[in-house]
Amino acid sequence: MTLPDALQTLHATFGFSAFRGVQDQVVGRVLAGQSTLAVMPTGAGKSLTYQLPAVMLPGTCVVISPLIALMHDQLRSAQANGIRAAALTSVDIDREQTIERFRSGDLDLLYVAPQRAAREHFRELLSRAPLCLFAIDEAHCVSEWGHEFVPEYRELRPLMDAFPAVPRLALTATADAHTRADILHQLGIAPEGLIVAGFDRPNIRYAIRPRDNPGQQLKALLAEQPGPGIVYAPTRKKVEDLAVSLAATGRAVLPYHAGLDADVRAANQHAFVASEDMVMVATVAFGMGIDKPDVRFVAHAGLPKSIEGYYQETGRAGRDGDPAVAVMLWGPDDFLRARQRLGEVEEARLPGERARLDALAALVETGDCRRAILLRHFGEHPAERCGNCDNCLDPPRVADVSVTAQKLLSAVYRTGQTYGFGHVEKVLTGVSDERVLVRGHDQLSVFGIVEADEVPLLRPLVRALQARGSLTATEHGGLALGGDAREILKGAASVRLAIPPRKEPRGRRQRGGDANPVGDPLFDALRALRREIAQEAGVPPYVIFHDSTLREMALARPASLARLGEIGGVGARKLDAYGAAFLEVIRAN
Ligand SMILES: [Zn+2]
Repeated sequence: MTLPDALQTLHATFGFSAFRGVQDQVVGRVLAGQSTLAVMPTGAGKSLTYQLPAVMLPGTCVVISPLIALMHDQLRSAQANGIRAAALTSVDIDREQTIERFRSGDLDLLYVAPQRAAREHFRELLSRAPLCLFAIDEAHCVSEWGHEFVPEYRELRPLMDAFPAVPRLALTATADAHTRADILHQLGIAPEGLIVAGFDRPNIRYAIRPRDNPGQQLKALLAEQPGPGIVYAPTRKKVEDLAVSLAATGRAVLPYHAGLDADVRAANQHAFVASEDMVMVATVAFGMGIDKPDVRFVAHAGLPKSIEGYYQETGRAGRDGDPAVAVMLWGPDDFLRARQRLGEVEEARLPGERARLDALAALVETGDCRRAILLRHFGEHPAERCGNCDNCLDPPRVADVSVTAQKLLSAVYRTGQTYGFGHVEKVLTGVSDERVLVRGHDQLSVFGIVEADEVPLLRPLVRALQARGSLTATEHGGLALGGDAREILKGAASVRLAIPPRKEPRGRRQRGGDANPVGDPLFDALRALRREIAQEAGVPPYVIFHDSTLREMALARPASLARLGEIGGVGARKLDAYGAAFLEVIRAN
């Protein structure tokens, strides 16, 4: 079995004519019987790296996966490509039959949860069936360094050690250097078996804006973005409120958070996965274990927990490789609350937690490329500008506002570090209302000290200083000095401010020509047929064909089954099952 053989199977089974990224390296190692840890971002086509060898090699690939929902998603997609796949879980009713097929070598893939894999009974079952590969999905679950440690993953090493001739393929999307080393060690994979794909997701356009009016800002986003989307909100209450207000746009909108009944959550998730334009408003509880490739946007209505969290959550957009957007709306209060919580953190964790917040502050405040900051955070060396984030597309003006910052901090200090922004602004701009006069703040040296051209900078400056921690909030919502405020006042630290261009970019066309056409009758008819077939089969539309496959059909207008089979994503099984129906629609439109 060699890579040319693999290319043939890649085309026949999956309908692709080339591998993406590091897929060929990983598949090459697996076919050579070498154990491997593949670190690949979501959307890079991880599952193909074990599904393809599983089809080619005699015997079954045992896939260990921690989430039943995810397992069944992958199972459906594999079966749609004609791969012989089954799962052994508590919810699968055909267990006897699956075990029989497994033993007789009639399965390419067998999915199991780590809890089942850890049982003695399962080891016995393995010893009586032909095996070709162990694939360990979400492999970071084996490490206590990762944030999703699953104790049963520790039982996998002894299980696999009992079958030394069977290679191992561990897969994860999120692992820093420390966690990677731990995974290799815990799963018994040699260090040279590590393959790391880049973290870049070039089809995702990042945009980060201050949160002025989140309801309006999100409605504008929905108006610009067709297709399924996720809006993350920080609390259950905000999820509920936003779901109601966004539903007023006429778009299908559902809420998802841990406070909903389990069956409501399951129903909402199911509806979202099956939909082509629904918006899910959710807490971060939503998304783990969902493998929906056609999510077109992910919005954050509040600050994410960390850069890693932001990367993971935005990474749920555009897994099919088509253009997608990630929009974050942040407010200074997000940072104030987060910095207040630092007060409850134990001493040992404090520096790490502070660094986490500072990294987020740097990301939201920067006038430089957002993608470059993200990728540098993951240890990469990206180009200065990506051309597909808000700052690259509409570069903000970056100004040194250190002097204005000194005036502002000085006013906060001289008024006693008890007043909110409104009062401080009045003092700085020389407005003498009753409160200013009563406190004698019109007598301060900072009264009326800012120039006219500094006035519009005050609010964004307060926001930036709060994000940076130079300004903190008192118990009663007043501003107080914090962080490096004294260095700024002494001129020992400078403050630069990214001033966005006047108008928010609106309705900008996506880069490249690979967005879905609007108002193309053939494309719409192909989608309608896909919807019909998907409904009948009880699967989400993307399991039948991805949007990119339909776009290629609409463009190429194939007139025969042979021509249709050359379209990307049309494997032999799908050509056989749906080819005639799609040809008919193409002929009729
Ligand atoms: Zn950029």
